[in-house]
Amino acid sequence: MKNICNWNNCFEIGEYKAPIEKDNSKSYRLLCLNHVKEFNKNWNYFSGMNDEQIYNFLKSDMTWHKKTQSFSSSDNFFKVLWNNTLKDEFDKSKLKSDFKFDHKDIKAFGILGLSIGLKWEKIQNKFKTLVKKFHPDMNPGNKKYEEKLKLITLAYTQLKNTYREKIDN
Ligand SMILES: [Zn+2]
Repeated sequence: MKNICNWNNCFEIGEYKAPIEKDNSKSYRLLCLNHVKEFNKNWNYFSGMNDEQIYNFLKSDMTWHKKTQSFSSSDNFFKVLWNNTLKDEFDKSKLKSDFKFDHKDIKAFGILGLSIGLKWEKIQNKFKTLVKKFHPDMNPGNKKYEEKLKLITLAYTQLKNTYREKIDN
């Protein structure tokens, strides 16, 4: 039996996971490709959070340190985010070259070890390199690497949302 997309009034097949909460629960809904793209586009991880909340979130055991929910388990929140992040591409040819970055973007460039305002392709390549380096499956039991990868993923998501806005506006 196929699942139907969980979006209002959509009857396409739902085969992409979209997390419901910003935590480590297994709650997700299934969406079709178009609607998971819509979901990713509108879903800015940091929206509505101040710096302290972001910091507390990153420190929180809720997110990724539960033994039963390692990065490798398929429904882990960050795993879903990470997979969506890699899958969901946008049209790079539409990127404008000059735009301003806010302090969260600048922080994100720093986390990824990149100079501010690089081309999207360079950011993406760096992200993929870092993911390989810090992936817990490559470094079993190393919690520091998990923490690092979490930060990298959040930074990348931040920049992705910023770059995408420049296309849509
Ligand atoms: Zn749909």
